[in-house]
Amino acid sequence: MSRLASDHTYSPIIFEQGQEGRGSRYVESGGAPTGFLPPEALRADLPLPDNSELDVVRHFTRLSARTFGIDLGFYPLGSCTMKYNPRVNDAMAELPALRDLHPWTPDDLAQGALQIMWELERSLCSLFGMAAFSLNPSAGAHAELTALLIAKKYFKDRGERQRGTVIVPDTAHGTNPASAAMCGFKVLSLRSDARGRVSVDELKNVLGADTAVCMMTNPNTLGLFEDHIHEIARAVHEAGGLMYYDGANANALMGNARPGDMGFDLMHLNLHKTFTIPHGGGGAGHGPVGVAAHLVEYLPIPYVRARAKAGADPNAAPSDRMEFRLDFDLPHSVGPVRSFWSNFAHAVRALAYIYANGAEGLAKVSQLAVLNANYLRVRVRDFLETPYDEICRHEFVASAQDLKRETGVKALDLAKALLDRGFMAPTIYFPLIVAESLMIEPTETESKETLDEFVAALREIVSLAKSDPGKILAAPEHTVVGRLDETRAARQPDLRWYPHPATA
Ligand SMILES: *Cc1c(COP(=O)(O)O)cnc(C)c1O
Repeated sequence: MSRLASDHTYSPIIFEQGQEGRGSRYVESGGAPTGFLPPEALRADLPLPDNSELDVVRHFTRLSARTFGIDLGFYPLGSCTMKYNPRVNDAMAELPALRDLHPWTPDDLAQGALQIMWELERSLCSLFGMAAFSLNPSAGAHAELTALLIAKKYFKDRGERQRGTVIVPDTAHGTNPASAAMCGFKVLSLRSDARGRVSVDELKNVLGADTAVCMMTNPNTLGLFEDHIHEIARAVHEAGGLMYYDGANANALMGNARPGDMGFDLMHLNLHKTFTIPHGGGGAGHGPVGVAAHLVEYLPIPYVRARAKAGADPNAAPSDRMEFRLDFDLPHSVGPVRSFWSNFAHAVRALAYIYANGAEGLAKVSQLAVLNANYLRVRVRDFLETPYDEICRHEFVASAQDLKRETGVKALDLAKALLDRGFMAPTIYFPLIVAESLMIEPTETESKETLDEFVAALREIVSLAKSDPGKILAAPEHTVVGRLDETRAARQPDLRWYPHPATA
């Protein structure tokens, strides 16, 4: 008999296998749960914490003060686009008329929400040169999987099932090969050339009748624009394959260049990166997937459609002359990939950001992101190696390889020392092709003063590494926790509640 069941007056409701047929039913039971849950998952004891509201408020307030975020300091985490998230986005997402909409609201009563989704889709199409976007996938990786499912179905419908290989450059994010493998494709890793780009010759060598998709990030994770992109797209198309654009780095070219014009058939955006939505720590994302005209019918369902209202004035505002509905009947759809309207509040935030900036503003965002990255690059190369030293896009990669040889101080140690000085660390040890890499992405929302403070801190750390390396190897000293065994923390998480030392 469990203590939970015996010590309290209520009976837990447990989930038991149905007596007949398929499916399950809820049954009330006062006894020890049997059958459905494995015994090791059952608790004999459930010690509920006995805390006052004030204790709980203090606990979470303290926790919030221990967390580092973009609102607290510079966050140059390469590839993640940790830019300022304007509060006006949240004000829009929190409007009661939007926030309180029930996901089952019929289309007739959700016209405003559907219009927001439609306008976001139209804006993304014009910004990135695609025929249509599905707003359904909830993150970049989810969108990659969705796009690869689309490609798979497309080839199946064309009777080209032999196209089972996805080509991924060695500069790609790990999600690219992972998504391809999850989708049942064979992954072929393509070595980049001495300039950190895809080698067209190397690519042509591996293209063939088995080529399904070439997944590219442009600019790539070295922050370099793939300047042979037209040639690459032509070669892949001639071999019968599709071009996929990983849009995680869209902050580098938004409003200035369009993947659709570069020859991409499929793409995704990370709205939570480029379009100012708070993210990190695995928080909710939003990853629309875009397609060229020949793939529109393969998009996931539902898809938002607009049509003119009969007899409406063609010059009226869209809400007066058009009606919107969710289309569940795309002939070749890969099916649903997400429930309801996906992360609708994020669609609102992204559209608020787009309208606040306008087309010119968004183009300027990218230009400033590129300017900031290049400013940092030429200042950082005074004291750290920058292996691909040319004009970069929104980010660049430095290396602590020489420093490590000279002093024993690694990229990881530099990162820890930055935490001590109030900065988030850059992305380290990625991309994999640069030893001891630090991938630095400042974004457009940082001031020159902040960039200068970061350079000064990093310069001081590097010089300390040379004079007194022990100091850097011992960092961080001022953070809430020191060096963690990150592998163990991930494999054996210890999530118990501990009282704060100040109150213990
Ligand atoms: C962030 C990122 C992804 C994955 O996106 P998520 O939204 O985190 O799933 C894919 N590719 C690149 C280059 C990225 O930076």
